[in-house]
Amino acid sequence: MLNYRIIPVTPFAQNCSLIWCTETLQAAVVDPGGDLDRIYAVVKETGVTLKKILLTHAHIDHAGATADLSDEHTLPIVGPHTGDDYWIKGLPEQGKMFGFKEARIFTPDQWLTDGESVQVGNVTLSVLHCPGHTPGHLVFFDPDSKLAIVGDVLFNGSIGRTDFPGGDHPTLIRSIKEKLFPLGDEVKFIPGHGPMSTFGEEKKSNPFVGGQWG
Ligand SMILES: [Zn+2]
Ligand SMILES: [Zn+2]
Repeated sequence: MLNYRIIPVTPFAQNCSLIWCTETLQAAVVDPGGDLDRIYAVVKETGVTLKKILLTHAHIDHAGATADLSDEHTLPIVGPHTGDDYWIKGLPEQGKMFGFKEARIFTPDQWLTDGESVQVGNVTLSVLHCPGHTPGHLVFFDPDSKLAIVGDVLFNGSIGRTDFPGGDHPTLIRSIKEKLFPLGDEVKFIPGHGPMSTFGEEKKSNPFVGGQWG
């Protein structure tokens, strides 16, 4: 079984997630944007063992502390998709632009693409490539607990921005409607920012993607 804790980090209140297998207590940190002390406090509290870092995409609020976390705990960096390579290389620039302390460039140990899977203990997450917000954006999905971690693709009542370099609105809408919604109305999701929701609820009430479906 998968369990999780959401840890808002950075001035952008990005929903970093600590996810773990309840049988083995092996864990992954998804999107360590910053505030590693906060993440370490939850790791200690839950008693889990960190095994890897997963990245949905390489914007600084999601990936800013990846290099530090990887170094401090010798953790492999898994994801995002190669389409976000230019965002990783641009992390120091992003850091200056948003007034973050210097974020370091890193090289993922494993890039991911659509249809692959990622192991966290005995839990197998499906990997979906969902471009639009960034070209290399990924979503992680646990079919057993029907939980998706969607980064900045979809929010409760909104969708990701597409005005950054490499963003594309029609591509984002296609990712949501053709990749996420078919996973099922009952699927709960952790967005990159703000409260959780379900795909069914967003299909019904999200003004950006609701009402145009089916
Ligand atoms: Zn983003
Ligand atoms: Zn974000």
